[in-house]
Amino acid sequence: MSGRSTRAVHAGLPAPADGEPFLPGPTFAAPYHLAGDASPRGYGRYANPTWARGEDALAEVEGGPALGFGSGMAACAAVLNVFGGPVVLPDDGYGVVARAAELSGVPARMAPSDPAALLEAAEGARLVWIETPTNPALTVIDVEALAREVHALGALLAVDGTLATPLAQPALSLGADVSVVSDSKAMTGHSDLLLGHVACRSQEHAARVRAWRDATGAVPGPFEAWLAHRSLATLAVRLERQCANALALASALAGHAAVTEVLYPGLPSHPGHDVAARQMGGLFGPVVAFTLPSAAAASRFLSACSLVAEATSFGGVHSSAERRARWGLEAVPEGFIRLSCGIEDADDLVADVLGALDAL
Ligand SMILES: *Cc1c(COP(=O)(O)O)cnc(C)c1O
Repeated sequence: MSGRSTRAVHAGLPAPADGEPFLPGPTFAAPYHLAGDASPRGYGRYANPTWARGEDALAEVEGGPALGFGSGMAACAAVLNVFGGPVVLPDDGYGVVARAAELSGVPARMAPSDPAALLEAAEGARLVWIETPTNPALTVIDVEALAREVHALGALLAVDGTLATPLAQPALSLGADVSVVSDSKAMTGHSDLLLGHVACRSQEHAARVRAWRDATGAVPGPFEAWLAHRSLATLAVRLERQCANALALASALAGHAAVTEVLYPGLPSHPGHDVAARQMGGLFGPVVAFTLPSAAAASRFLSACSLVAEATSFGGVHSSAERRARWGLEAVPEGFIRLSCGIEDADDLVADVLGALDAL
């Protein structure tokens, strides 16, 4: 198999044809011309050549059939509704997923992101859902080992791999049944798109997700889908720089007096480091988390940075950070900062962050 940058650059591109572009532009259509018999090719909620190419690309990256959605949460909701009930959800994961289960009437059991606790809650469940690394606590779970145990209980394993991206951490080949990803983050990487996707190990599961999407209409717009495919070409290059910056920053923060705890799976001191080193392809993610003494200190830090935008979300080419507890979604300390490294020069980024900390 070729390297990940090679795969990202070439994924889903049509065969060369004289006079045709490398990546054909978006097709905008509600109905298509369709004479005679009914066909899904007749209507834009069922089929679009721009998504189809993007989904071919995602399938190559994921190693299984993929379906695009209008946002990460639309993808998560599809997985919960199609495979869930009861579903075991991690209590330190992206908080909106539990809310979506509740609003969808999908029975959910919350458990800590710890294999023993997840498995204890999984008795009689249809689906176990994990994030790895979790957002924002950056807990790492061994997907391969957990998949074996979940399957032994007769349940399916879904992995939300948004933070790592499936290019670095191929959840399906590690044994997950379903990979669910918010493509609003590093996958597209420019902080200008809302998208998501679901990939499955089996064609049968993918067909059920497609049927859900056909009926609920949670489809991506063709222009967004095209931009996502265009962005995929630079994914490996972006991630390599972002993760190198994150490791440099985490190492610098680890020695700073104002910081009480630094979490980054790439640091040998992180409890999930060995597992992360095995399953994340050497790319430990763009996100570094650390704790400052108080909410006020965290706010002063954020306004003192000049290269790090105060903003939610992560994975973009511009560095950004936020005081995560402001959302009240996850149990994190008041001074907890989630910082996402962009592709700025490492020296500039580290100097900016350390400068802001020194000014506290
Ligand atoms: C952002 C995010 C989502 C939701 O994705 P949207 O594209 O914002 O709808 C789901 N899971 C994780 C881990 C996320 O970070």
